[in-house]
Amino acid sequence: MTDDGIIRTMNWTIKPSVIRTTTDQSIDTARKAMDLIAKTPPGNETLTTLQEFEEVFGAIREALGPIRFLKYVSTEKEQRDACDYTEKQLLKFANEILGRKDLFDVIIRLESKSETFGEEEQTLLKKTIDDFIHNGAGLPEAERKEFLEISNNLTVLEADFSKVLAEITTTVPCTKEELDGVPSAIYEHLEKDGDKYLLPLDYPVLIPVLNYAHNEETRKRMQTAQNQRGGKENSERLSDALALRDRKAKLAGFKNFAEFQISIKMAKTPERVLDFMDDLSKKLKPLYRKELVVLKELKAKTTGVALEDVEFHLWDLFYYHELLRKEKYSVDQNEVKEYFPMERVVNGVLEIFQTVLNLEFVEVKDRNVWYEDVQEYKVINKVTGNAMGVFYLDLYPREGKYKHYAVFDFLNRRVKDGKALLPITSMVANFQKPTDKQPSLLTHNEVETFFHEFGHLMHVVTNQASYASFGLDGIKPDFIEVPSMLLENWAWKEDVLQILSGHYKDPDKKLPSDLLERMLKAKLLDVGALTLRQVFFSLIDMYYHTEPVEDTTALWIKVFPEITGMNLPPDTYPEASFDHLMGGYEAGYYGYQWSKVYAEDVFTKFEQNGYFDEKTGLEYRQKILSPGGSRDPDEMIRDFLGRESNNKAYLKSLGIDN
Ligand SMILES: [Zn+2]
Repeated sequence: MTDDGIIRTMNWTIKPSVIRTTTDQSIDTARKAMDLIAKTPPGNETLTTLQEFEEVFGAIREALGPIRFLKYVSTEKEQRDACDYTEKQLLKFANEILGRKDLFDVIIRLESKSETFGEEEQTLLKKTIDDFIHNGAGLPEAERKEFLEISNNLTVLEADFSKVLAEITTTVPCTKEELDGVPSAIYEHLEKDGDKYLLPLDYPVLIPVLNYAHNEETRKRMQTAQNQRGGKENSERLSDALALRDRKAKLAGFKNFAEFQISIKMAKTPERVLDFMDDLSKKLKPLYRKELVVLKELKAKTTGVALEDVEFHLWDLFYYHELLRKEKYSVDQNEVKEYFPMERVVNGVLEIFQTVLNLEFVEVKDRNVWYEDVQEYKVINKVTGNAMGVFYLDLYPREGKYKHYAVFDFLNRRVKDGKALLPITSMVANFQKPTDKQPSLLTHNEVETFFHEFGHLMHVVTNQASYASFGLDGIKPDFIEVPSMLLENWAWKEDVLQILSGHYKDPDKKLPSDLLERMLKAKLLDVGALTLRQVFFSLIDMYYHTEPVEDTTALWIKVFPEITGMNLPPDTYPEASFDHLMGGYEAGYYGYQWSKVYAEDVFTKFEQNGYFDEKTGLEYRQKILSPGGSRDPDEMIRDFLGRESNNKAYLKSLGIDN
């Protein structure tokens, strides 16, 4: 068969003024189409009505999705600002439509007719109705209006919160002496002020400084600057958002926002999330107590301070963690990274998942990209020979670019007039840039991160759903990390690392087996401390969204040491730069650990059949990735595993005996 889908082309050089008019016009057209649907006389609504409704969203996402994405990657501030306008307008439009009573009335009438619908269409109807209810469309008029106003205010608060963080240009000035311990390749190319290097807070600089700077004051200054990023203004935005979310939940008839938000996720209730976290916390604390003794002893030995006087802070954690890895296991991440030049890692990962997922990745030479070093790949389904989608790799930091690691699915798959419009997506990462002297080198942590994000990419490009609403946005947020966390497991297999590694000075030199053996032994080093940090993020997010919070900063500073036993730098607003609370993960951070339970369980089947096994890989692709949001996650997992899921593999992955 050669019934290829359609690969849509995008215009990355679109002018700011055109962005604004395109946005307004697209929304205007979409609103008119919705007005027509709203006029459907009772009794005349059919499956086509639902499909037309869905298509309006599909079409507007197509028109504005790539523009919205540019907000996070464009090199020009004017363009980013215009795209910020697009993002806000698009989100407001979604709030407006999904909050409309007249449209809701038409769609809900389809419930009684849905028996004749196909399975995917039944799910689409259910999801659409849930979306309406979740946006207040079913409320009495006054409440409905208030709900909509709140949603719009939240949209602006959230977009502004993230924009402040993306635009930050703060630097921390440090002399060479103050950076003792940090590999010079990390900072020597940076701008200087006199004898001081100006250190930005981007991950490729921040992480090595926190990991290796012998000078505690340097680490503390970096950690402080990191925790001051959002400032009082973002802290206030968060407080305002929490109050609005609480009001919204109450209008919708829920006790609090956590209950409102989680009611439509896998976990279903906040109680289940809290039980999960409490249980995890109980299991991790004994591990952590032992780890902390060792870390404090190391700090005492290193600094010459008596053990009983040692204070252990957040800015010590990663430094002593790395030092311990080096002293106890003879694993130096800076030595390890010499075996993982970026090109090698990218090619290796592509090679592996071409096999495992039965795909072919074809590098596009004649690239259409938003920045010169971005790579583009076309994905072919090896089973049918058809194109499935396109992905981009945007790997290095630059000014104004999104500062974390994420995958953006700016064009979802959908079927229109019998033709598949293929999904297009990008990995947006911040790995260390190559310099004149050496290529971009990845620590093993970063290799793991690459696998993680690649898992998200594969989720997007292998999507086979017929409707755009079943793209990443339509997947339950506490399931969305399953494909990414699953792939991290490959980063720990010797034969995988054989393919992935090659010393940057001598590509034939693979990662030595004895080094890998020591890395594996150190895999669970400080797992208690590191996972408890994740528990903290999950819990503070739940606390913010269950009870009214007087002072978000004070609560964070109080709870952090209670859970992690570590102090934070003073005079900071740590919550003001925690994007997850303002970017779709609100009352949802727990989703990482929740997803990991399923990811580890899914991996057991690869452990049994072989993690290069094409049959298992194809089954995984077809049963878990391809449906996107069109199937119930519990059902998909059961179907793939052939049994109910359990947490045994998850606990084992954390070194906890059950
Ligand atoms: Zn992820």
